[in-house]
Amino acid sequence: MDVSEQLHENTQNIQENNQGTEARQVWNIDKSAELYRVSQWGHPYFSINAQGHVMVSPRGDNGSSIDLYELLQSLRKRNLELPLVVHFSDILHDRMERLHSAFSRAIAKYGYKGAYRGVFPVKCNNQRHFVKSVVEYGRDLHFGLEAGSKPELLIALSCLDTPGALLICNGYKDKAYMETAMLGSRLGKQVVIVLEQLDEVILAVKVAKRLGIKPVFGLRVKLSALSKGHWGGTVGTRAKFGLSIIDVHAAVEILRSHGMLDSLKLLHFHMGSQISSIANIKNALKEAGCIYVNLVKMGAPMGYLDVGGGLAVDYDGSRSDFYASKNYNTQNYANDVVAEINDCCALAKIDVPTIISESGRALSSHQAVLLFDVLGEGKISFGHIEPPAADAPHALRVLYEIYSEIGEDNYQEAFHDAVHYKKEASEAFQYGLLTLEQRAQADCLYWASCQRIQEIAGHLPDVPEDIGELESMFASIYYINLSVFRSAPDHWAIDQLFPIMPIHRLDEEPTVRATLADLTCDSDGKIDRFIAQKEDTSSLLEVHSLVPNASSAAEGPVGRGEHQPYCLGMFLCGAYQEIMGNLHNLFGETNAAYIEINPMGYSVKHIVRGETVGEVLGDVQYDAESLFENLRQQCETALLHGTIDLDKSQHLLNNFERGLGKYTYLTIE
Ligand SMILES: *Cc1c(COP(=O)(O)O)cnc(C)c1O
Repeated sequence: MDVSEQLHENTQNIQENNQGTEARQVWNIDKSAELYRVSQWGHPYFSINAQGHVMVSPRGDNGSSIDLYELLQSLRKRNLELPLVVHFSDILHDRMERLHSAFSRAIAKYGYKGAYRGVFPVKCNNQRHFVKSVVEYGRDLHFGLEAGSKPELLIALSCLDTPGALLICNGYKDKAYMETAMLGSRLGKQVVIVLEQLDEVILAVKVAKRLGIKPVFGLRVKLSALSKGHWGGTVGTRAKFGLSIIDVHAAVEILRSHGMLDSLKLLHFHMGSQISSIANIKNALKEAGCIYVNLVKMGAPMGYLDVGGGLAVDYDGSRSDFYASKNYNTQNYANDVVAEINDCCALAKIDVPTIISESGRALSSHQAVLLFDVLGEGKISFGHIEPPAADAPHALRVLYEIYSEIGEDNYQEAFHDAVHYKKEASEAFQYGLLTLEQRAQADCLYWASCQRIQEIAGHLPDVPEDIGELESMFASIYYINLSVFRSAPDHWAIDQLFPIMPIHRLDEEPTVRATLADLTCDSDGKIDRFIAQKEDTSSLLEVHSLVPNASSAAEGPVGRGEHQPYCLGMFLCGAYQEIMGNLHNLFGETNAAYIEINPMGYSVKHIVRGETVGEVLGDVQYDAESLFENLRQQCETALLHGTIDLDKSQHLLNNFERGLGKYTYLTIE
């Protein structure tokens, strides 16, 4: 580089730095709030404070707040490493109260002569501390539990100790399930066995007779009204669950013929999860209300109408019927449920039922935040561009010419030429006509050209598609300390969207656009769909640049773990994630902390340590001791042959042994 070029580059750097400071000065937390749409999806629990940190208000508008970043620091001092799920139990409490009071308001508004009872579906979040909180917070609200399998039934029978609370038994049942449920009904809970198939009706009758117990039965009906949920397929004639109208009729006759019609007290339907459109909910309610009325007319005592789950969460905050959103609020939902059922019963002149709902997602999503750190950054990089020597291979010289002449009038042509000559260079390399160094120069010229083209095209309207794609080519990849398969399986499996944002530095402008790549050796282990403006998604997330540690900055390129910690949060992830997560690449369960606020601040009520390497190996039938013994014997043999010395062999064995007791994720020491 000659002196004038050097000068030019220096002034450019200075200009860029100035722009940087200016941008940082005009940036503020309001802009971050707008960018990440915090008040749209996070209200009233999440906001940004003056320090640029995420704030959590677990009781919504009426209670104290916790600085999430400071909370993380204090959890780290308790030896809790990232990734880490923080559960705010008070958010769960608040969600339960809000749902219950929405129904109370609707009941008052329509003069409804019945009551509302919530039940929590255990499958949505079956962890002990969570279910126990549901029972505890639900005591005054008469909340019950819903079980969908034998293990869940055992949890519900044992943990639910609210007198008179409902225990709704769904799912496929065998004799043992039926017996346990019926016997459990003698313990002061209101157990309802929901019959989903005709052979289940027959089994239930037999088990009840043998035990001499008069159970309470419900029927699960398949509605024909179709829903527009992302998790659809649980309704309609070919649905996996429930009785068709023909089966409902047959079930009533079976019960009648055994003198057990007086046990039939509940009608159940479930439209599927995350029903984004209120119109679909109304249609289902009309159909179910009509079936309820007819069951009463056929002589069943009835008394309960269970509207299942499906109450949606607004993950992207767009308040629309986009699959990651919903076009109604909890009050609209409660109003429609109460009003539709009220109308049906008034028309038929029958008593209204107690309304049951089984909302899982809507109660449990908000209370969990997954925190994880960024390990490093990857992006296309090329060094300083210099003209090739006069006798350099043809492709190299042409690529340089293309690079030097890129302008607004020829950028598209330049792009196609660059693609062509990059290919030529790569072919010439395979024929041995280019050295590796020359091939590297050709690639540098290609990427430098693409970058110029992208800078030019970025300012223009109507950019051709292939050039438009250059932006994501140049985007950064942030490597995150996380397994998507373990911690956000729905993102991988069904394109679920979760709001993701940094939890600190929000008073600074995020100048980098990145996708996130996880720790697994799997190309699906990435996050490249983020919430965006209304009913859309973005492939890139705005993040802050990583800041090298003062000590390593002076020494040139920054190595792994040599930048200041940068921490992101995935929000609204308390439903269906941890339990559906898997052991891909043997990344185990993550650390978890349960936080409860109190008048003095907050307390860390429970800590649940994530799995260690040894535990995860046990999950796939390895015995840590014999693994260790195997390695020890290999060390002894190597010592005999002199390929390792005693110090090194012991160092290896120590690392192995210590590693077994450690977290499966990366730790930065
Ligand atoms: C899964 C499930 C629910 C919970 O649904 P959400 O959409 O999470 O509210 C409720 N009832 C039944 C029968 C279910 O299978």
